[in-house]
Amino acid sequence: MTPHWSEQRGALKAWLLTNLRVLIGCDFDGTLAPLVDFAGDACLPAATRAVLQRLISLKGVTLAFISGRPLDDLLLRVGLAGAFYAGNHGLEIAGLDGKAIVAPGAVDSMPMLRAVKTELTRQMAQLAGVWIEDKELTFSVHYRLADPACHAEIEERVRQGVAEAGSSLVARSGKLVWEIRPANAWDKGAALRLFMQHLQLPSSAAAFIGDDTTDRDAFRELPDGWTFYVGDGAGTDSRANLRDVEDCAELLEWIADARGGSPALH
Ligand SMILES: [Mg+2]
Repeated sequence: MTPHWSEQRGALKAWLLTNLRVLIGCDFDGTLAPLVDFAGDACLPAATRAVLQRLISLKGVTLAFISGRPLDDLLLRVGLAGAFYAGNHGLEIAGLDGKAIVAPGAVDSMPMLRAVKTELTRQMAQLAGVWIEDKELTFSVHYRLADPACHAEIEERVRQGVAEAGSSLVARSGKLVWEIRPANAWDKGAALRLFMQHLQLPSSAAAFIGDDTTDRDAFRELPDGWTFYVGDGAGTDSRANLRDVEDCAELLEWIADARGGSPALH
């Protein structure tokens, strides 16, 4: 059973006080911002934005926001300077200099992605409560508002659409969403690894917080770092659990206090 983060305070504090530099990666939806029915309605709570700003200003602390949202959208919603950002589950990356790079191979897959998206858009139009979000390098089939009796049919159509594209695309399931993306391209783990390499930090000096399937790609990169799963962590490989978005904000406050309170790190 994965422990709640509050039971790990001693080890976490030791980690914060013994590493001169740390990288803390966060997913956005369901981790920093409450989940909403429509992706366009999500927003970062003001108190969470304030604690993130406080963490960025601490010496030796770097933040990385790694989300399934398109990079532009993520940058707009978080809007904090001095952090790393990765969108589209790691396919688009912006470094501390703000320059964006796109994963090799992701652009090549776009014609196939568009063809599958057009076909699935046509098919899903018959199903109430399903909508497709175009994220350029990937697309999402959201079914949060669909009748649960239709879930199996949605999955079948998604899997069939992707299978018809050969091996160039994959479908991954998230929380009442299917993500269709290029196969064999950067994921959240690859983005986190690139940021660690850029900072020349070992995985033991990094943490990641996330609430969904694709966040586990980032967890895998941190076998000796800190991994936090938001939600029921049964069956996940995280080192600690968070109850919900509010609990995540509390953890971030606690980290800022623990790290900020050490005179050695100023
Ligand atoms: Mg999430």
